Parts: sequence; C-alpha cells; structure tokens
Amino acid sequence: MVSAIKDKNNSAKIVGHLINGEIKYGGGSSQDIYNPSNGEVSRKIELANKKTVEEAIAAAQIAFPEWRNTPAVKRARVMFRFKELLEKNAKKICELIGEEHGKISHDAMGELQRGIENVEYACSAPEILKGEHSKNVGQSVDCWSEFQPLGVVAGITPFNFPAMVPMWMYPLAIVCGNCFILKPSERDPSSTLYIAELLHEAGLPKGVLNVVNGGKEAVDTLLFDPRVEAISFVGSTPVAEYIYTTASANGKRCQALGGAKNHAIVMPDADIDNAVNQLIGAAFGSSGERCMALSVAIVVGDEVGNNFISKMKETMKTLKVGAYNESSNDFGPLITEDHRNKVASYIKSAEDQGATIAVDGRDIKVKGYENGFFLGATLIDNVTPSMTSYKEEIFGPVLQVIRANNMQEAMDIINDHEYANGTCIFTRDGEAARYFSDQIKVGMVGINIPLPVPVSYHSFGGWKRSLFGDLFAYGPDGVKFYTRRKTITQRWPSAGVREGKEFSMPTMK
Ligand code: NAD
Repeated sequence: MVSAIKDKNNSAKIVGHLINGEIKYGGGSSQDIYNPSNGEVSRKIELANKKTVEEAIAAAQIAFPEWRNTPAVKRARVMFRFKELLEKNAKKICELIGEEHGKISHDAMGELQRGIENVEYACSAPEILKGEHSKNVGQSVDCWSEFQPLGVVAGITPFNFPAMVPMWMYPLAIVCGNCFILKPSERDPSSTLYIAELLHEAGLPKGVLNVVNGGKEAVDTLLFDPRVEAISFVGSTPVAEYIYTTASANGKRCQALGGAKNHAIVMPDADIDNAVNQLIGAAFGSSGERCMALSVAIVVGDEVGNNFISKMKETMKTLKVGAYNESSNDFGPLITEDHRNKVASYIKSAEDQGATIAVDGRDIKVKGYENGFFLGATLIDNVTPSMTSYKEEIFGPVLQVIRANNMQEAMDIINDHEYANGTCIFTRDGEAARYFSDQIKVGMVGINIPLPVPVSYHSFGGWKRSLFGDLFAYGPDGVKFYTRRKTITQRWPSAGVREGKEFSMPTMK
C-alpha cells in the first residue's frame, strides 16, 4: 500500500481516504490541518462527499460475506500481528499525534498504550464469541445462542484521542465479523490513518476497514444510508444527541458518547498533598482536552478548601507548558486558536460572574512558539453551580473549585449536573467512599483515583447526557453492541420416536 503519511522531508501534504485497501484522493473539498504547537498549517485534509463515502460503504459490503465466514481465530491472528506493528511503530504514531493534536510524547504514548489494550482484548475473539449452550432443554432438544455480526458498521470519532478512541471501536467490531467505516476527526487524522494502514500490513483483507475523512456531509451519508447497520460515536453532546436521534430514526443501532463535567470531592480527612498531585495531572494533563479531565474540585469545609487552594497554587508554579516534542513539558497547546479563545472566554465569564481567578493562565508565552495555541493552567476559586463556566464543558486547562459544607451537599451538586461521565472522591474513610460509589449518579467512579478510565476488559461510558444509547463502549458491552444474538432450538429425535400434535404453548412436561 502507498502510505498517505510520509516522513517530514517527503511529506504527503494531502491526507486522503483509505477505501478498499487503497489510499484515495479527490471527491470533495479540503481543509487545513494545523500544528497547534507553532500555529502553522502542516497538511491539508480531503473532506469526503456523499459519493466517496458510498464507495467505502460498498467496499465494506462486498468484503462482509467472506470476512463474516472467516474463523474467529483467524480474525484474531490479524489483531496479534497488528499489536506487534503498533508497538514497533509507536514512536512514529506518537509523533503524528503530537504534531497534529499537540499532546506531549509521554501523553501520546499513554494514549497509544490504552488503544493497544483494546487490540489485546480483541485478540480474545474466539473466547468472547463462544456463545451459550444448553443441552437437553426438552427430550432430545438442545438450545444455544450465538452472536452474529451486524454487517457494515461505522464509527465517528473526536480530535482528542485520534489513536485510542477509534481503537475502542474497530478492533472489536472487526473481530466480531463486521466490516467498518471510520470517520475520524478532520482536525488530526494522520495518526488514525497511519494506524489503519498498519492494520492492513498485519493482513486485514481489503474493504474490512475503510477510513473516510470528512465533515457533516460524510457523517450524514453514514447516518442515512440503509446499508450501515450501526453507528458508534464519540464527541460533544450536541452532536452526540443529533447522531443518536438521526441514527435511531433511520433504524440503526447507536451508541453516542458525549461531553462531560467531571468532579472530584476532596474530603476533610483526605491526604491533601496526594489529592493535589493527583488532581493537577487530571485537570491539566493533555491541556484538559480529555472527556475524563477532572475540571471541578468540590472541597468540603473551609479549612480543607483554603489549604487545597494554597497548595495547588504552589504546585502549579512548577508546571511546564510547551511544544509537543519536548518530553519534559507537562502539557501542550490547545487544538485550534478558536478553541483556545473559547476556553479563555469561559475564564472571563467566571470572573465576570463573581468567581476568583486564583491562577490565571491567559497571558502565557512559550518562547520559540509564540504563534502556538497555548493557554496556561488556570485555577478558579469560589465557583457556584449557576455560573456558565460551571454549567458548560470547558475542555481546557482550567480547574474550578466549589466550596461545600458537607459530603451530601457536594454529592447533590454532582448529581444535579447534566453530564455524568466520571467522578471521584479523595478520602481515607471507607464508609464514605462506599456510600459515594453507591449513590452517585455517574457512569465511572474513582476512589482516590482521579481518572477512573476503565481497562479494556470492562466498558467505558457515562450516564445522563454523557451517553445516548444503552451500551457502553468497548469491552463486554462493545461485544454486545457489535453482535446480534441468535437463539437456535433444535430437536434430533431418535429413530422411531415421533411427536404427537401439540396445540398448546410448548412447555417442558
Ligand atoms: P465534536 O463533537 O466537534 O466532533 C466529533 C466528531 O463529530 C468529529 O468526527 C466531527 O467531524 C463530527 N461532527 C462535528 N460536528 C458535526 C455535525 N454538526 N454533524 C455531524 N458530525 C459532526 O467533538 P470534538 O471537538 O472533536 O471532541 C471533543 C468532544 O468530545 C468533547 O465534548 C469531549 O468531552 C468529547 N469526548 C467524549 C468522550 C467520551 O467518551 N464521552 C471521549 C472523548 C471526547
């Protein structure tokens, strides 16, 4: 295969599509891709029109019958080889992530590792697709359930994890026997595309995974085309809601993961130094552009509140913000200039509405990278639930602090928020932690763990307006999402035994 992503000196300036095992160009308009660390245009991306997406759907549909009948163990073997290639090419993948997203190499490596863990889970395809069997449910009657693939399924993914989030989807969908169309973020598509090329190098037959780059036209084609059986989406809540309602109205299975506002409660008995260290990484890591970023700390009691703010201010002085390719940096720029300005406007609105800006990151300058989309770590105290900056997802390096009088008040604040992706509590009290994890209305909960992102053999998802649909992403819920149960009941009567006529509902007598 001719790679769409070449070395810097031999740069493929246009990022195309991967359809039926080949890189394709043309069939739509194009748009700039930026390097957020220096603010320069690094490549252009082709945005697929309806015809191009239909070509990908047709390729997937043609590949499906043979792939469906390929034994699960053979499908898994492709994933074993894929895992090896991902590890071998990790440096190049992380360079592409950093260049287009801006995250620092150690963070990109963490993202890639979490993606690889989903490939490892997919390697267990023969085990997870074994089905259920009951012998002799009636005289000479056996019953079993098997899990069949859906056909052509699609995934639409956000910019903030260009390697990992797509790998929440297609490795599992593919080992379950489906063919996949991936529509990655148009803002940082190169690592996604390169990884898809590696999967082909691992032996994936053409047409089983297709990548189309694009915007709304490409997404709408997937949503309305009757050949697409299911849609997995990860992105912001307004788009997630649109995807879910449109896909459902068109008869498709859909899981649409949306935005978040993740709170930590810091209890009076917590180890404050530990909580500060944990929260600083969870709030500002990856510039806060994580759907699990810890963006609100609710401190219980004034004493712990004041202590928390002063230790946070001290520790924040040590943060190093800069370009993606300097591994000593703690975090990098935001994805675009527009987004940087939007995050800064949330800080201003908090200030205007009466909050205290304890540490202000708006004036940061990064030497040598003056045109990068940087925003320094910002700490806002005395935030209240009525403020705009609290109600909406900021998606930037901003930690807001709310003061509460007791744990129940803190939990009520969390339970009243429209988003319910992740949350955590810092405490030494097991009883309080147990009550919190039982009663809090949030999908993923941490106890002294600020980013409780489930491992690949569990499943990931939020509650309320952080997830539309019934099933979480990846892991056991992913298997359910990408398969359809069929239950077969079979009788093989022994020679000479015949059943009589039966008009009542069949039962075991
Ligand atoms: P986004 O919603 O802007 O884009 C996500 C995808 O949807 C992209 O592929 C984009 O091309 C497409 N899209 C955008 N607007 C569309 C429209 N009007 N119609 C059809 N398709 C459209 O999200 P983003 O800015 O790329 O990512 C950040 C968001 O994703 C944040 O809100 C973050 O919380 C969320 N996110 C959620 C999770 C989760 O697991 N819940 C994980 C990662 C990111």
